Amino acid sequence: MIENIDQMRKRHEKEIAKLQRLCKHTKTKRMPFMWAPGHFGNDVEVCEFCGKIVKSYEDRTEFEKIFLKEK
Ligand SMILES: [Zn+2]
Repeated sequence: MIENIDQMRKRHEKEIAKLQRLCKHTKTKRMPFMWAPGHFGNDVEVCEFCGKIVKSYEDRTEFEKIFLKEK
């Protein structure tokens, strides 16, 4: 039986959720968070391996904000 798009998305959601749960997120990259196409919010840190957003700007401590001299 062939899957339709909704079934396929659901299946991958589960796989991605599992991957992100197992991943240690050791390597991250900063990228602008796009909440809608063409609309950028604050930068976030995304795991390069599983794609999970591991830290948003709002999650940074006051120390990090000052130390990293960001916005
Ligand atoms: Zn990860």
